[in-house]
Amino acid sequence: MAKILVYNNNTNRIETYYRKENDNMPYTERGYLKVAEFRGSSKSSTIWTTKNSMESFVRQRKLWGGPIPVGYAFKRPWEGGHGKQSQHYAGTAFDVAQGWSNLQRSKLRASAKNSGLWVYVEPAKLTPTWVHFDRRQTPPACSGGGYPVLKLKSVNTYVLILQDELNNLGYSSGALDGIFGPKTLNSLRQYQQKNGLKVDGIVGCVTWRTLQNEVVGRGRSQTTVD
Ligand SMILES: [Zn+2]
Repeated sequence: MAKILVYNNNTNRIETYYRKENDNMPYTERGYLKVAEFRGSSKSSTIWTTKNSMESFVRQRKLWGGPIPVGYAFKRPWEGGHGKQSQHYAGTAFDVAQGWSNLQRSKLRASAKNSGLWVYVEPAKLTPTWVHFDRRQTPPACSGGGYPVLKLKSVNTYVLILQDELNNLGYSSGALDGIFGPKTLNSLRQYQQKNGLKVDGIVGCVTWRTLQNEVVGRGRSQTTVD
């Protein structure tokens, strides 16, 4: 049984679902995307995504006209396996078509690009043996790309990354709810102070980089919260 947090882009709220591994992901259709496919190699009991990422996958699947095998999608940041500001930790990204021929993959890449369903489709030269597409939130805090700025009252899956990382490092931000409230703010300010960062309670480029460098791939800790 997985606890699935879904950021609803229409209502600006986080919804909670409980689903079995063989059930469909919320906002998908039967046979399109199972919980087990979305989590890939993540062993976390709690996973998260966004409604518009799920809807884009369904529309991409319809456009393609057949199954799109998903090798990897979600990971908790401390589980690692992707880049430092990977959209996989935000639950907005898919790595698909691992077992396909290069020709089929380039057709899917072109379809994903032309569909306008995705914010980013990775070029073949970066990921030749799979296709990566995602519905990241923009603009990024750092000029080279990555996560958006977070501050008090932000609501999205990037706040889940922040809360997960602060908890993992022992700065208690409480339950994972995806809402940047007073408890998240307080633990962030403590983190910024301890790390010699500007204590502004805002997650901008430098704070994101510091956090990601410290947490990505470090593993579950005693203070991790599910
Ligand atoms: Zn990817």
